[in-house]
Amino acid sequence: MTELDPIIDRLVRPIADWPEPGVTFRDITPLLGDPVAYDAVIDGLVTLAQAAGPVDAVLGIEARGFLFGPSIALRLGVGFVPVRKAGKLPSESLSTSYDLEYGSATMEMHVDAVTAGSRVLVVDDVLATGGTLLAAADLVSQAGATVAGNLVLIELLALGGRARLGDTGCGTLRTY
Ligand code: AMP
Repeated sequence: MTELDPIIDRLVRPIADWPEPGVTFRDITPLLGDPVAYDAVIDGLVTLAQAAGPVDAVLGIEARGFLFGPSIALRLGVGFVPVRKAGKLPSESLSTSYDLEYGSATMEMHVDAVTAGSRVLVVDDVLATGGTLLAAADLVSQAGATVAGNLVLIELLALGGRARLGDTGCGTLRTY
């Protein structure tokens, strides 16, 4: 239990059976609307990031990784790298496909977004099965860089994502 747990419990609302039956969606929009709580959560994520050691860039995953990653990058004094769904980035991109519960998805990153040999922190809102963070790690690896760590606001323990991430691990503020 940390001082952020009640804030997250109050301002990340569970939406039952959305977007499909059986899924409890963790809706962060109430948190985004509370500047004091939002700032405290960013502070908590930055503290976890600093514990993982120095990084050269923060990578955020579309879409909700964009709501946390840039603030963390600015506080760490490093640049922000967007990873986007296929077909959204304007310049030459690296690409990776990964399995979803039904079908697959493709994510992309500009080829020049991270420097070979650099250490990258990957940020998203929720860790579920881990497939999304693993796909981001594949893009980082294709660029010749290393994932220094993963960071999420919420980890859904029942979905076992942490085990799939292996030694890279994942910092998290709240588990359900
Ligand atoms: P996964 O790849 O299974 O770890 O899923 C993580 C990605 O899907 C993140 O980008 C999340 O934004 C989203 N996601 C998965 N499950 C949920 C959930 N229950 N509530 C909110 N977002 C979720």
